[in-house]
Amino acid sequence: MGRWRPPRVEWCQGPKAGSAWRGGFANLRPPLAMKKPLPVSALLSRRRFVGQLTAGAAALTFSLRARAQTPEKKLGVAIVGLGNYATNQIAPALQLTQRCRLTGVVTGSPAKGRQWASQRGFSEQNIYSYETMARIADNPEIDIVYVITPNALHAEGVIAAAKAGKHVISEKPFTTSVADAEQAIAACREAGVMLSLGYRLHFDPFHRELKRIARERDFGELTTMTGSNGFRMAKKVWRAERHLAGGGPLMDMGIYCVQAACMAADGATPVAVTAREHPKTRPEIFEDVEEGLDWTMEFASGARAELSTSYSANTGRFRAEGAKGWVSLEPAFGYSGLKGETSRGPMNAFGVRSQQALQLDDFARCIREKSPTIVPGEMGLRDMKIITAIYASAAAGGKRTLVKT
Ligand code: NAD
Repeated sequence: MGRWRPPRVEWCQGPKAGSAWRGGFANLRPPLAMKKPLPVSALLSRRRFVGQLTAGAAALTFSLRARAQTPEKKLGVAIVGLGNYATNQIAPALQLTQRCRLTGVVTGSPAKGRQWASQRGFSEQNIYSYETMARIADNPEIDIVYVITPNALHAEGVIAAAKAGKHVISEKPFTTSVADAEQAIAACREAGVMLSLGYRLHFDPFHRELKRIARERDFGELTTMTGSNGFRMAKKVWRAERHLAGGGPLMDMGIYCVQAACMAADGATPVAVTAREHPKTRPEIFEDVEEGLDWTMEFASGARAELSTSYSANTGRFRAEGAKGWVSLEPAFGYSGLKGETSRGPMNAFGVRSQQALQLDDFARCIREKSPTIVPGEMGLRDMKIITAIYASAAAGGKRTLVKT
């Protein structure tokens, strides 16, 4: 099947007819941490030049000057689910963003909500429960709802946010089934809101460099990929309960390998998969889901990825080889401290302070500019289709299974 590209955005006017939309990687502006913004004077003089060429030049230049002088109002973000990731990554990242601010929460614990409001400086009026979440519709301080609940609850969070008329970010995995992903996408489309995913690594310089290497064929087509991602789960938590997690480490950690392989395949979707579950060494924790899984993804180009995930081993690496060289990431998937090397030497990338801040700011930019996100719901739907095929193959004892697209 063809290369996966972000879909056309229907909630807003897209690029003008005839203008080339450069989707995917090319659509992401360099993160501010990597490149200094243009000085305002440079922006204005360049725009002035454009202005000379077009009718209405004076008005255009004036409005741009005014914009350069007036800071853009930050978009308000409400977080749904105040667990680990929300508390330790997203709330701190929001403080580093230039275009967003935390303005509300949805929580099952009113006391926790009040604590968040007083510590993080938003009104107690903006604390909602899961039952009252629909009232966010009436709150102009909330522009974006960020769903960070257990996996199986993402779809209902996204749908509730869309019905409230708010733009949405869903954490990964987008949902726990293809049908849920389709429903969540449809709800956002119907509501005319924009949907993106917490695929933070698309904003990490090492992964961006991986995508560039794949796209520009630095080492030819990357045809042989290997990777693994996992950690040792000490005790049973919701991540090992099917009704909340949708599956085991594949949903949680293996999804990063799925993503990296699709990046290295320059956005292609695999045509078929073959998977085998690891024998259970701790069935008391993993009675409900896999403890680990090895799988192969085959691409139409002939590229193959041999991947693995586990809740019993600490690992995080990815490697892709082409006829003219290779690229390797290890650690590959963390929030920071990533390292990369290619057959030419150390990778031309460096760490950023917060992948999540870049992810949030980019989504806010997309909303402001009415332009498509590089991590849309459709990418999550694609991944759900791949994951569904992987589980089907494992359930069939390792039978080669086509990915239904
Ligand atoms: P967590 O258990 O720490 O937090 C989950 C939150 O959801 C808690 O506040 C909990 O109270 C709330 N919740 C609401 N309904 C619940 C229910 N019925 N059962 C249990 N909890 C319920 O989990 P986490 O590590 O913060 O993960 C949350 C989501 O974020 C997951 O989908 C996970 O995959 C994702 N995540 C993403 C990244 C990333 O790097 N993008 C990293 C960690 C987690």
